[in-house]
Amino acid sequence: MPQAVPALNVVMLGPPGAGKGTQAERFAGRHKIPKISTGDILREEVQAGSELGRVAKATMDAGNLVGDDVIIGIVRHRLCRPDAQRGFVLDGFPRTVHQATALDAMMDGRGGLVVVDIAVPEEVLVRRLAARRICQACGSNAPVEWTTACGKCGGPLMQRSDDGESVVRERLKVYLRQTKPLVDYYSARPTFRTIDGNQPPDVVTAAIDAAVDAAVAGVRL
Ligand SMILES: [Zn+2]
Repeated sequence: MPQAVPALNVVMLGPPGAGKGTQAERFAGRHKIPKISTGDILREEVQAGSELGRVAKATMDAGNLVGDDVIIGIVRHRLCRPDAQRGFVLDGFPRTVHQATALDAMMDGRGGLVVVDIAVPEEVLVRRLAARRICQACGSNAPVEWTTACGKCGGPLMQRSDDGESVVRERLKVYLRQTKPLVDYYSARPTFRTIDGNQPPDVVTAAIDAAVDAAVAGVRL
């Protein structure tokens, strides 16, 4: 009997500007597993006008963050879909230790979790974020490949208004403060891998592939 291919369950961590979204998308595409972003799901639900979307929109409109338990429910639901049975890449989840312990419980019977943390020095992040552009028409974040126009809708690109240096530094500080406990939660595991994100995107992609392969092989030993 052919042996079942083990699922590739991957969590990608990294500060804003580390290229996490791009790398998560590439990894998911190459391994034909879904990239799961709670931000994307929330936007879809809001657009679809579902019950969840209405609750989430009201919360966000009031200037609040959507609660941990709502986010956990969204992920649990999404991971039940057939396309996620061979694995997934999580982008933007978990953000808290509470979410991480809930995710561990969801992994019961699904194989291990590989956690990839893309690390980039603060000065590099500040430089990258200050140069970051978005589409004026649809609001997509522009990867470096989009030189003049939006790759999704063709709209013009502009610099993000909230990317002034002091704002960027504050955002990084908040990120580090919030995710330090999360990194501490995962870092002792043999399947936790830190990737040097201060390299060309293709080099980072290859490093992530090698690190995940090594982590999965270690789990199988
Ligand atoms: Zn666009």
